[in-house]
Amino acid sequence: MVLGRQGSGKGTQCARLAERFGIRHVSTGDLLRDAVRAGTEMGKRVAPLVESGALVPDATVVDLVCDEAQRSDWEHNGFVLDGFPRTVAQAESFFSLVGTLDEDRSSHPDVGLDAAIALEVPVEEVVQRLARRRVCPVCGTIVTVDDASVDQVPCPLGHGPAVRREDDEPRALRRRLRLYEEETGPLLPWFEERHLLHRVDGVGDPDGVFERVLEALGALLDLQP
Ligand code: ADP
Repeated sequence: MVLGRQGSGKGTQCARLAERFGIRHVSTGDLLRDAVRAGTEMGKRVAPLVESGALVPDATVVDLVCDEAQRSDWEHNGFVLDGFPRTVAQAESFFSLVGTLDEDRSSHPDVGLDAAIALEVPVEEVVQRLARRRVCPVCGTIVTVDDASVDQVPCPLGHGPAVRREDDEPRALRRRLRLYEEETGPLLPWFEERHLLHRVDGVGDPDGVFERVLEALGALLDLQP
């Protein structure tokens, strides 16, 4: 799983890991935004939270990820978790739940976590990055604008305008960054105590960061069959 404050490039690095290793990329942010867009019961409940940059209740995201685990076979094939767990309570309840999903362990073996990658990028840098991030609401493609005052740019895939994500607005962003320190920060020592934490410098171009992520995973990947 990959941890990192908003704008640290978590989504990008998770997508690369998923592609490189042929595993599933599970992003709770994307799953929640899909639910909001689809207007499901849960989507309606969480919409104001996601849009304002508040955290969705632990039980809701844990259910979401467990459903996803049960629905697909990602626990057999491997997966990269993006944006989850985001609180110590989520980590504890998820890892105890997935270990006991089913009486019959053959269909739901324990989900082991191999590594937690913490992408480290200073606050000032992520604020600058997110001020220039525009996202296509249709396909999710991210466009980085040179001038932060430009509100809309065309989606490179031709869907229409790529816009500022609602929770990238300055107020919501400040709230998300604060929540990251308060709620997600304590997960770092939690993973460290379990000898799972790898800190990676997230500053620089995405290729260079990916090299460092692979390097951090190196010893672990050597152990894979
Ligand atoms: P970011 O990491 O940049 O905030 P995400 O796309 O990961 O972006 O998440 C967007 C929003 O979805 C969060 O601000 C929060 O409202 C909600 N969310 C995503 N993952 C979780 C989680 N594990 N626990 C609680 N809320 C979550």
